[in-house]
Amino acid sequence: MSNSSELHKRRSVAVARGVSSMLASYVDHAADGTLTDVDGREWIDLAAGIAVTNVGSSSPRVVAAVQRQAERFTHTCFMIAPYESYVAVCEQLNALTPGAFEKRSALFNSGAEAVENAVKIARHATGRRAVVVFDHAYHGRTNLTMALTAKDMPYKHGFGPFAGEVYRVPMSYPFRDGRSGPDAAALAISTIEKQVGADQVAAVLVEPIQGEGGFVVPAEGFLPSLADWSRANGALYVADEIQTGFCRTGDWFASTHEHVEPDLVTTAKGIAGGLPLAAVTGRADLMDAVHPGGLGGTYGGNPIACAAALAAIETMHELDLPAAARRIESVMLPRLRELQRRHPFIGDVRGRGAMLALEIVVPDSSEPWGPAPDPARTARIQRRAHEAGLLLLTCGTYGNVIRFLPPLVIDDATLHTALERLASALDDQD
Ligand SMILES: *Cc1c(COP(=O)(O)O)cnc(C)c1O
Repeated sequence: MSNSSELHKRRSVAVARGVSSMLASYVDHAADGTLTDVDGREWIDLAAGIAVTNVGSSSPRVVAAVQRQAERFTHTCFMIAPYESYVAVCEQLNALTPGAFEKRSALFNSGAEAVENAVKIARHATGRRAVVVFDHAYHGRTNLTMALTAKDMPYKHGFGPFAGEVYRVPMSYPFRDGRSGPDAAALAISTIEKQVGADQVAAVLVEPIQGEGGFVVPAEGFLPSLADWSRANGALYVADEIQTGFCRTGDWFASTHEHVEPDLVTTAKGIAGGLPLAAVTGRADLMDAVHPGGLGGTYGGNPIACAAALAAIETMHELDLPAAARRIESVMLPRLRELQRRHPFIGDVRGRGAMLALEIVVPDSSEPWGPAPDPARTARIQRRAHEAGLLLLTCGTYGNVIRFLPPLVIDDATLHTALERLASALDDQD
């Protein structure tokens, strides 16, 4: 029996079934762009732990910073005995996030926790309750963030009742709605005005490019229109940049592509080279509206995670990872478009930087919401790729999107091999 099969047997009687794994193999070690399992099998990694290891899985500066900090102290709780690295991470976030205004930050452990706190801050600062979210949105798995997340299975199914005062409106989804950005925004805004009331809205919460919901890139003009409407109506525009942030889309943050300056930004995933850390960053007056003691948590801004984040951010500057993401796009996008010409089941190729996707459909089909999604073929392509040594993730409301999230430090040769393996996994489907 393989080492992985033995581990799988132990797992099945020790780990709760609700926590599942995509791969049946267990990781022994990883490098920049590859994973090796406990039986010596290797995969090219186009997942990066879901857009987390942007600087690589054991980035030298991150490893050294973690080791140094672990020897000094592992934890004091910033609310009890503060330390410099927490402050330094907040300074970095305030400088790097979009908007040249004065900002403040607060640190947490996970993306969901950051989103929950953004909602707390928005409600406190505006004195309003309603939170507007979008079709296909993903914001996490805690009770409030399940309410904010769109998809029932697997995220919400059977886990209700959910938090109230959350309102879902139509998203711009160019492949399926064919609307211009301003038209899609007008539809969302009229839905808000009719069903929520403009003066009730505390926050309009949106992913600038949707992650789990299908790597949906809204049509140009959609996000700026929402930001303008929010400002004009006293609501906060909150960008969830948890998946798009930290160089992933070819800029430090995806809001920048359309010059949007959010009132609040949530970050996590790529922030700390694999260590758990998350943040809310925003306009100083809004962030400071909350009374002392109103925000926090035992582990939020843990010193080892902060040391890792400072090292990861330094590495992003040094290696110019926004440029690396654009280079990945320039290698992958033409190749993906070529594959689309060969395979009519590739309905759409989309994304930005190193956040790219294929939407898999039934050729020549038509549903009221566009070409029929083909989740079964999507799963077959993913399985074929895994067998061929290529780690791919899927996503999407209809489970029919193959997404690519390579570590930004992946080298060209590995990327080309990945694309060859992808091409043969797609060929096997004809
Ligand atoms: C992953 C993700 C979250 C949740 O982050 P966790 O760390 O898993 O809690 C929230 N929003 C977006 C856009 C995400 O991609």
